[in-house]
Amino acid sequence: MELAKLEKQYFGTNGVRGVTGVDMTPRLALEIAEAFGTMLGPGTTVGLGRDTRTSGPALAAAVRAGLLSCGCNVIDFDIVPTPCLQYLVLDHHLDGGVMITASHNPPEYNGIKIIEADGTEMGDERTVQLEQIMIHRTFITAPWDKLGSESSEPNARELYISAIVAQFPKDCGHGITIVVDPGNGPAAATTPEILRRLGATVHVINETFDGTFPRRLPEPTAEGLAPLSAQVVETGAAFGVAHDGDADRAIFVDEQGRFMDGNITLGLVASYFCHNHPGSVVVTPVSTSGLVEAIANSHGCTTSYTVVGSIYAARTMRKLMEEGQPVIIGGEGNGGIIYPVHQFCRDGGMSAATMLGLVAERNQPLSALIAELPVFTMYQEKCKTDRAAAITTHMKEYFKGCPIDTRDGIRITRSGAWALIRPSGTEPLVRIYTESKDPAEAKQLMDEILGEISGYLK
Ligand code: MG
Repeated sequence: MELAKLEKQYFGTNGVRGVTGVDMTPRLALEIAEAFGTMLGPGTTVGLGRDTRTSGPALAAAVRAGLLSCGCNVIDFDIVPTPCLQYLVLDHHLDGGVMITASHNPPEYNGIKIIEADGTEMGDERTVQLEQIMIHRTFITAPWDKLGSESSEPNARELYISAIVAQFPKDCGHGITIVVDPGNGPAAATTPEILRRLGATVHVINETFDGTFPRRLPEPTAEGLAPLSAQVVETGAAFGVAHDGDADRAIFVDEQGRFMDGNITLGLVASYFCHNHPGSVVVTPVSTSGLVEAIANSHGCTTSYTVVGSIYAARTMRKLMEEGQPVIIGGEGNGGIIYPVHQFCRDGGMSAATMLGLVAERNQPLSALIAELPVFTMYQEKCKTDRAAAITTHMKEYFKGCPIDTRDGIRITRSGAWALIRPSGTEPLVRIYTESKDPAEAKQLMDEILGEISGYLK
C-alpha cells in the first residue's frame, strides 16, 4: 500500500489531473503517452479521445506525438464522452485508449485517463509500471520506418449511440419528454440523440461544445442544475439529466425538478435491471446506501460489496462474471453506473437511456417511483487524524461482536444500521458513514463512533 502510494507520483484513482500550464502540460502528456506506447510496443493501435476543454487540442497533439514516436498507430475519435472511447476500444479490439479529460474538475484543469484493451481504466499495478517508465525515462523510440500512423473514426459517436439504443425496446420513449444538460461537454453530441432515437421528445440546454463552461461548472451540483430543473417543470418533462465533464456520470432531477441523490439513482436503475433479471447480483462499493441492497433483495437479487472506486467495482464485476456469477449492474452512489450488458465502465449515456426505459416501463412519474422506495438516513463525517491505523484497530476491537467487512476500512453492521470507518488513501483523515432506516439510530451510531475515536483526532 505504502509502496504503491510512493510510486504513484502522477496518477490518482482516475488518472492524472492538474491545472493546465502548471502541472498538466503538453510535456507531461507527451511523457505519459511515450510511457504507455512503450508498454504497448510498436505496431499496436490506440484510440484517442478528449472532452471539450480549451487545453484539449494541445494535450491531444502531445499524446499523439508520443504514441506515434513509439510506433503505435493512433485512431483519433476527437470529442467524445469517456465511455464512448471505452466502448470503441472494446468494439474495435484496440490495444488501449487515451482520454484527455479532467472529468468534473473546473475549466482550468485537464487530465489523462488511460484505458486498457478491455475498455476499463488502467488499474494500480499497471499504472505503477507506467510511472516507472516515466521516472526512469526508459521510453522506446521507433526507427524511421516503424513509426505509427494516424487515422480518424468519423463514426465514433454514432457507433456508441447505436450500441446503447440497441439495449432498449424500440421506441420505448414515445410520448415522453426529457430535458438534457450536457454542460457544454462531449455528451451534447450523444445523450440527446440516444434519447431521441428511443422515441422521446428531447430539449437540450448548454448544448454546444464549450470548454469555458460558461453557464455551469462540469460538476453537476443542485445549484448548477437549477436551470435544468426549471426547464423540466416548464416543459412538463418526465425528468432532467445532466452529465459531468466527460459524461461517465449522470445526475437526474425528477419531473418536479428536484435533484436526485446518486444512491436513489443507482437504486432505481438497479430496480430496472433486477426486475427484469431476478436472481442476479448487484455490485457496489462499501460506501453505498443500504437502499441499493434493499432494492436488490426485494427483486430476489443479492449484493456484492467492493473497495470504494469505480475501477474496483468494474474489475470486481468482471471477476465475478468470470467465476460464473450473474452480475447485472454495478456502480457508485455518485451517479456512476456500470452496465455489463453494454461494457465494464461507468456510462452516463447508458444511465440516461435506462432512466427513460424505467419511466416508460412503470408508466409512473419518477417522484412516485422514488416515493415507493424505502427511506434511509445517512450521516457522513470527515475527521482529521494521522492515526488512522490506530483508529481502525481500536474500532475493530470495539465492534468485535458485530459482523465486520474489512475490504476497505471497516464496515460493521449492527441491528438495522451499518457504519463505515475508512481512512483516506491520500490525506490524513478518516471518513465515517452511518446509515439506518431509523434516523435516530444512524445519528446515535455516528455519535458513538465519534466519541470512541475522539482521542485519536487532531
Ligand atoms: Mg467523469
